[in-house]
Amino acid sequence: MSKKFPENQTRFSQRFTSDSGIVSLMEDLGQALNVNPDLLFMGGGNPARIRGFEDRIAIHLQQIARNPETLNKLIGIYQSPQGSEECIQALVKYFRKQCGWSVSEKNIAITSGSQSAFFLLINMLAQNGGGEEAQKKICFPIMPEYLGYSDQGIDHGTMLGNLPRVELLDKNQFKYHIDFSSLAVDEETAAICISRPTNPSGNVISGEEVEQLTLLAQRKGIPLIVDCAYGNPFPGVVYEQVESSWNENSIFVMSLSKLGLPGVRTGIVVAKEDYIEQITRVNTIMNLACGNLGPSLLTSLLNANELPGLCDEVLLPFYRRRRDFALKQIEKHMQGVPYRVHKPEGAFFLWLWFEGMPISSAELYERMKQKGVLIMDGEHFFFGLSDKNRHAYECIRLTYCQSEPVIEQAIRLLGQELKSVYELG
Ligand code: PLP
Repeated sequence: MSKKFPENQTRFSQRFTSDSGIVSLMEDLGQALNVNPDLLFMGGGNPARIRGFEDRIAIHLQQIARNPETLNKLIGIYQSPQGSEECIQALVKYFRKQCGWSVSEKNIAITSGSQSAFFLLINMLAQNGGGEEAQKKICFPIMPEYLGYSDQGIDHGTMLGNLPRVELLDKNQFKYHIDFSSLAVDEETAAICISRPTNPSGNVISGEEVEQLTLLAQRKGIPLIVDCAYGNPFPGVVYEQVESSWNENSIFVMSLSKLGLPGVRTGIVVAKEDYIEQITRVNTIMNLACGNLGPSLLTSLLNANELPGLCDEVLLPFYRRRRDFALKQIEKHMQGVPYRVHKPEGAFFLWLWFEGMPISSAELYERMKQKGVLIMDGEHFFFGLSDKNRHAYECIRLTYCQSEPVIEQAIRLLGQELKSVYELG
């Protein structure tokens, strides 16, 4: 619902209080997960509740709380501006050993969640400080992309999207590829940014696509930002083996959220020294210091060498099972509906395309809400485009983080609604 604010708003306030997809999404999430648990929540990006993971975290928390020294560090001391030294040292060891990256302590900064890391990065790189319109743009080579980026520019027009090439696959599937023929990277481009795996589509852009983007960015002397929220090195929700290799020209942004810890609000940026110094300063002015809980838990997990096992043996099999279950429900309940699912290669979403749907995905969202099912309509994920094509209004995103009965019931109700939309028997 659009809200009216006083007319004498500042430019900053106008910029950040207008309607925003991410605000609506988080309002829905709050309703479903905190206020009204009867809603069937197939919308936001909350990770699943995984007992095996929670149990390990509880043990680490107890160990931290039992020792007066570590307890004091957790609750009684402000973290250093760049982030917890112990956590950064443990991360350096991990990145060097597990990933083979040549990083040092100077290449890592901790932030309060990766959302805020993106706010800092996008505006550090693209904001012009002058007129209303951004002079420099952040280029998103493949739309749809994570809608949480779309309103982060202090200036209007900071984001520049590029529509993908669509490949139709067997078994009602399809896949997006970067359309390099229409990708405009020029003097106005401040950085290239991709999420890998991509939220919302579950796409994992190929190693060759990453290589091409890397070369493009290097040639223009701009960074390639890779959002690793769902991918490698952790939580590694990627169903096929992919390489991901950091270099001085890339900025990797990670998060503890999709590992199962959205409540600790911890993000990690891996970048060249100069960027880390800038992020550290801006972050300190904005937040003073980050919370200690995420870094304490991460340090404890890394020092016990438990992270790879948790990712490979607990999280990945869990999400794979849920993905396969959700796909089966779609097959079962959407027979006759002209649907396609994006090849689900990573993250924990199914991205559905209803070609030629008689209503928009926004209307489908409203109708499903009336039935007590929250889905995400796809339009918000296509941003920074001068022209959206019809496809942008024909897609929805479903999470498969809920329990099997919730997934089953929600997809059954969705199937019923779609059959009535398409006037099928
Ligand atoms: N990047 C992607 C692709 C996401 O989906 C999200 C959250 O949903 C974020 C970043 C931000 O996550 P957080 O701020 O919890 O680290």
